[in-house]
Amino acid sequence: MEITIIKTTTNKKLSTPVVTGFGKYFTDHMFTMDYIKTVAWTNPQIITFDYLAISPSTSVFHYAQSVFEGMKAYLNDKGEVVLFRPYENAKRFKKSCLRMAMPYIEEDDFVQAISELVKLDKDWIPSEEGTSLYIRPFMFATDEVLGVHPSNTYKFIIILSPVGHYYPNGLKPISISINPIYSRSFFGGTGDVKCAANYSISLLAQKEAKEKGFDQVLWLGGKEHNIIAEVGAMNIMFVINNEVITPKLDGTILAGVTRDSSITLLKEWGYIVSERDMTVDELLEHINNNEVSEAFGTGTAATISPVGLIEYKGTNYHISDDIGPVAKRLYETFNDIKTKSDAPHREWVQIV
Ligand code: PMP
Repeated sequence: MEITIIKTTTNKKLSTPVVTGFGKYFTDHMFTMDYIKTVAWTNPQIITFDYLAISPSTSVFHYAQSVFEGMKAYLNDKGEVVLFRPYENAKRFKKSCLRMAMPYIEEDDFVQAISELVKLDKDWIPSEEGTSLYIRPFMFATDEVLGVHPSNTYKFIIILSPVGHYYPNGLKPISISINPIYSRSFFGGTGDVKCAANYSISLLAQKEAKEKGFDQVLWLGGKEHNIIAEVGAMNIMFVINNEVITPKLDGTILAGVTRDSSITLLKEWGYIVSERDMTVDELLEHINNNEVSEAFGTGTAATISPVGLIEYKGTNYHISDDIGPVAKRLYETFNDIKTKSDAPHREWVQIV
């Protein structure tokens, strides 16, 4: 793909505060490309990060035909820019597009666009331990017409955001609340893709969990609404009697890149990993019997997020006050793979 690059004339970096938090500041440039049904993808370009002029009738506002990805670029110990398994995000993006009746982007083009943009804005990648450059590719319907049908035109954009350490005060376990009513996904739905609507329907449960004093929602799925599914926007794993258990990919679970990589590492380290259904009752019984030594979420934003406590229907079930050895080893190994040029699993790392 031939990308036109028009460099910015204003250097925002000098006036941007030192990075703290997540997704608040954006780099100088963005990648954009347009889709027109009769022409296919056209006009790939890197331009100044700027506002878009969009008609109120644009179909994405009304029918949410919109998908996205989330990944990160890191600086390694040689000062090289590193992407972690970017083709996995490219494949998932394609799957999301197809599910939402949208045109997709070839995997090579997706990774090329990210690589060229990140290379251009390389100076924005923070270098302090635990920091990174968050990459947000997204696509949305741009037909300026009301009516429920697939749009004939789309815009694909990539923006970049320098992000601080996800755990500025250390890796403290979070508390999570099982929501007995709301689902984030269901059989035949869209839970296994990254469409924007999945996240808007999750917000009310998240708000209610926060109001009750918990950090995140533990989602249930299954036909009886009793199967452990995901935590917040992360996959979930439990260490129960030395076996690692995580929900199987049954079409309602997002296939996380961190989940897949964790399973590979855990198996290499000799753990038995079971991808299977677990009911709430089974989980709570294991906790009551002191058999759950660890629970943690896996995802790009935090990498590994230990879970200390689970609430269900007004009762708190305590797991641990500290990060456990399995979560810690995974967290440190991922950090090494992303930032140390002599770490294992070089095949997961792409230098741009
Ligand atoms: N589940 C959901 C619902 C998510 O949004 C994410 C973040 N993409 C994940 C799991 C974790 O996926 P990954 O490890 O690829 O970031």
